[in-house]
Amino acid sequence: MIKIYLKRGKDESLRRFHPWVFSGAIQRIEGKQEEGELARVFNSDGEYIATGHWQIGSIAVRVLTFDDEPIDEGFWDQRLAAALEARMAIGVADNEQNNTYRLVHGEGDHLPGLIIDIYGQTAVMQAHSVGMHICRNEVAASLKRVMQDRIEHIFYKSETTLPFKADLGQENGFLLGGSPDNIALENGLKFHIDWLRGQKTGFFVDQRENRSLLEHYSHGRDVLNMFCYTGGFSVYAMRGGARKVHSVDSSAKAVDLVNANVELNFPGDSRHEAFAEDAFKFLQQMEQDAYDLIILDPPAFAKHKDALHNAMKGYTRLNVRAFEKIRPGGILFTFSCSQAVSKDQFRLAVFTAAAQSGRRVRILHQLHQPADHPINIYHPEGEYLKGLVLYVE
Ligand code: SAH
Repeated sequence: MIKIYLKRGKDESLRRFHPWVFSGAIQRIEGKQEEGELARVFNSDGEYIATGHWQIGSIAVRVLTFDDEPIDEGFWDQRLAAALEARMAIGVADNEQNNTYRLVHGEGDHLPGLIIDIYGQTAVMQAHSVGMHICRNEVAASLKRVMQDRIEHIFYKSETTLPFKADLGQENGFLLGGSPDNIALENGLKFHIDWLRGQKTGFFVDQRENRSLLEHYSHGRDVLNMFCYTGGFSVYAMRGGARKVHSVDSSAKAVDLVNANVELNFPGDSRHEAFAEDAFKFLQQMEQDAYDLIILDPPAFAKHKDALHNAMKGYTRLNVRAFEKIRPGGILFTFSCSQAVSKDQFRLAVFTAAAQSGRRVRILHQLHQPADHPINIYHPEGEYLKGLVLYVE
């Protein structure tokens, strides 16, 4: 355990429960500085402020608690039990139709650096900080205690999410159990989850509610799902009664996944076809009026603030193509998952695209991340997913 003393006045944001200490706020550090070490944080008068994980970098401490309490079994059990209780309260856990949900969403669950997604009997755990990596076995043990027989397997996947320089030698693998059974249920639909090789924890759990809304609009429509990945939106569109569904992703592996997931839910259904193609190229080459329901859910165009300008141009360029080609009376679901692009900035990029296309466009819905990805009100940085549903005349 190390002690960190802040510069005068630098405890202000922490007093408002913002869960990060930036390196520039630190006056001095006492104790052996091992990355991932627990740190007790004090203000310049020596008053206790918080305890968290210390790490080299601009975010120096990720706060676990503002109470003066030990970070022990009881702490982890309490935090994880609170997370589970919240998921039961919103109806995604202990639900016969749904066993796919995010149990822990970092700062949103007062556990910065930790992500846990549940897929049926398997929890996929991801550390985004050195401290959480070091605690992984304690967290896994607590997870099993709290979840009891809800889960049998815990897969740890942090190979690509930890600071490269920390050189922790981490490997992906099971911390508990181990099963090749990977079919999970989301709102009654089945999905193969590839936590081993897939992006993030294997699935984009964060689009669940938006996929449900899409299902509602799919009846009788010709649907184009761009950046389809595992085909979440495609499968919902099919259940919603779409006339045809085309899925596009530049990754051939994603195209295999979407085909497998469609086959799992709608065997032999000829309404669906998938294409391994670049989205921009596909939109440029596709026929006018071929689709009247289009989904644009690209990867984050801006991973950092300095990429903002290009990201805005990217969103505009992408959306303008969809506006130009969508059939009159069509509906466009368009998203950004860039944390660096605000809701207003994204709306501006889409507005610019609409104006360039000359189409008349109305906003039907403003979408965001679902309730199992809560935003700590003191940590607005936790808001990342935004979307618009647009009616194009
Ligand atoms: N909509 C998906 C998640 C999309 S993730 C869901 O609901 O699960 C983004 C996807 O975009 C990835 O699968 C990636 O392979 C794909 N992608 C990235 N760049 C692309 C491009 N230029 N053209 C087409 N697909 C692209």
